[in-house]
Amino acid sequence: MRTYLLSSIASIFLIGSCASQHTGPEIAQTEHTDTNSTQTATKFVSSQQEFREAIERAQPGDEIVLRNGIWSDFDMLVVANGSAEAPILIRAETAGDVVLTGASSLRLGGSHLVVSGLLFRDGHTPRPEVISFRADEETLAYHSRVTDSAIINYSNPDRTQRDIWVALYGQNNSFDRNHLSGKLNAGPTMAVRLNSEESQNNNHVIAHNYFGPRPVFGSNGGETLRIGTSHFSLTHSGTIVENNFFDRCSGEVEIVSNKSGGNVYRGNTFYRSRGTLTLRHGNGTLVENNLFDGANDPYTGGVRVINAEHTIRNNYFTNLTGERFSGALVVMNGVPNSPINRYHQVRDTVIEQNIFDGVRRIELAEGADEERTAAPIDSQFRSNIIISSSNSTPFRLMDDLSGIEFLDNRSSELPPDEIADGFEMFPASDLETSLPARDHFGVEIGDTGVAWLHKIPEISPFDGGQEISVVPGRDTLSSALMTAQAGDTLILQPGSYSESRSINLHIPVSIIAAEGPERPEVTFQRPNLIRLSANGAVQMRGLNVSGAQAPDASGNSFISTTSTGGSGNHIVELHDMMFDEFDVNRGFSIITASKGTFFDRILIQDSRFSNVSGAVVKLDAETDDYGIYNAEYLIIENSDFSEIGGSVATVYRGGRDESTFGPHVWIRGSRFDGIGTRGEPVLQLHGAQNVDVSDNRVINAAPANLMITTGHPVIREENNQFEDGLSGPLLNITDLR
Ligand code: CA
Repeated sequence: MRTYLLSSIASIFLIGSCASQHTGPEIAQTEHTDTNSTQTATKFVSSQQEFREAIERAQPGDEIVLRNGIWSDFDMLVVANGSAEAPILIRAETAGDVVLTGASSLRLGGSHLVVSGLLFRDGHTPRPEVISFRADEETLAYHSRVTDSAIINYSNPDRTQRDIWVALYGQNNSFDRNHLSGKLNAGPTMAVRLNSEESQNNNHVIAHNYFGPRPVFGSNGGETLRIGTSHFSLTHSGTIVENNFFDRCSGEVEIVSNKSGGNVYRGNTFYRSRGTLTLRHGNGTLVENNLFDGANDPYTGGVRVINAEHTIRNNYFTNLTGERFSGALVVMNGVPNSPINRYHQVRDTVIEQNIFDGVRRIELAEGADEERTAAPIDSQFRSNIIISSSNSTPFRLMDDLSGIEFLDNRSSELPPDEIADGFEMFPASDLETSLPARDHFGVEIGDTGVAWLHKIPEISPFDGGQEISVVPGRDTLSSALMTAQAGDTLILQPGSYSESRSINLHIPVSIIAAEGPERPEVTFQRPNLIRLSANGAVQMRGLNVSGAQAPDASGNSFISTTSTGGSGNHIVELHDMMFDEFDVNRGFSIITASKGTFFDRILIQDSRFSNVSGAVVKLDAETDDYGIYNAEYLIIENSDFSEIGGSVATVYRGGRDESTFGPHVWIRGSRFDGIGTRGEPVLQLHGAQNVDVSDNRVINAAPANLMITTGHPVIREENNQFEDGLSGPLLNITDLR
């Protein structure tokens, strides 16, 4: 068996400094001479064939330079051995200007290899990984490094297809100063694999990377980083994750899923990221000097603790709004004699010298239920500072906390009686002035990633384009949609628009009425006017839409989705819209999700719907009970529904998985009259995790059905009025847990 002595972390960075000092002089092309001399060569390559030949001949100290340009469908395989003193360097002629597109991937096998300056975009990997630190199951990488590289928007167009963008195997490898952003399909963005002895005790370093936005995935499998799996959770990993910036990494409840032993998370910044750094499996993790700043975004959390012998110290947690599994600090209850894939009891864990500044929740013994009955033991919570931004303590105790010793903590609000002895009280202002400077924690965004790519700014997808005037007539709207650019706004002049084509919309576009008293009238002659795919999103305002010209066909829906051509996170916003005559057959909808597609949000405001034969919003295509669903937010406000054949909304989220925050269904201030002529409830909600039905008026409709299937859904129901003047309940709740 192949074994490698563990080198120190410093040796990895020695390799690193060699590479970063390289300035890329324009050396004339030289052929490597087949001698035993120690002379090294720089070889420029312009084709995949030249690259393969150069790799076959590569000797320690050699440098292979990929010429700038597009390298499409490049199955880039590097199997070679450099040496500690003389690694083999494979680099872009200019960092960022060697672009791998289409069905490209990179595999490394051997030792002392350094790859630098590559950009993957405009495609997706045909392999299980984009960048793999192994050539195959037997040929792993050791003492190797990928740096100054990027993978952006390189998602499989079928969001249900699993892949991993970067997978570390072997030992003593480094992935540093890279930029990964925009993964939309299933599977972690990056993973450390421990699936053979050669990949355990790995001493990998993951440092100074920029993990850019990862949107909500809509089921388990949206982690940004995973280290290990439950199967290998009791093995030692020893990966160091330091000085990385996690920017809006919000795929699911686990930003990071730690599933192995002896890993270190140090000096990272978690910014506006939903969920937590989750110590899901494995023992002996060190979490220190990190900054968790949620900027008060929903569901932002800190660290979730499961298992034994962890140390969580000197971290700064601020402006985090999450609760339960997404609290600023969550210490879980375990399962007695837990199977390896469930919850091991927390024990011998120290939580010290952390600052909790304006966080909503610190959850202790969280998850306590009939199965998770083992409260934390032999642990300490000491010398922490808790500054409340409200008049209430963030602590919530779900079970017996006598197994945690509370000592020398300072707090601005009195914690619950059971633990209050371990706290001294101070005014918030006194505690604030005693805090160390913020830059003691985390890393600056500018000190991560690559210099040649912008970090991702926050802009509305509907901004940044042109305003385009559209005149009434036949197919004028569909023609404008076919030539629109991302962010454009189509301004419809008054009059009639008759559309004979269905448009596959893969970019965000706004369609709004021109100012004035007269509203544009839109009819369409296909089962859908708009089918969203890829990054398709649409915002509409001030239009009257009639379904009267649509065919008597199955699947009729004004807006639908298709995964053909890519299934990104869609947005639909309808403001001040009127829909009528959607009753040419008995299943006509306004918005429908097809299987394998996902909406970030559907927002309906100030709109009227009448004579719609099916469900107005149909989000029930994921019926496999895998915890997958079709929309994160469905929000209906100040709108009016009358003579609706089906339910106003059908939402289905099956399965018992606890990895998602959604779906959210918020129905407020709206009026429902004559809903469900075939007996359907006004809303049909299965497995929704966050429901608000308030301030609605309901006439001639059956109450809403809400099936609770998993988790602890947040449910709000207030001030709904029925025809007879009595109030609610509007929600008919069935608990299937
Ligand atoms: Ca997960």
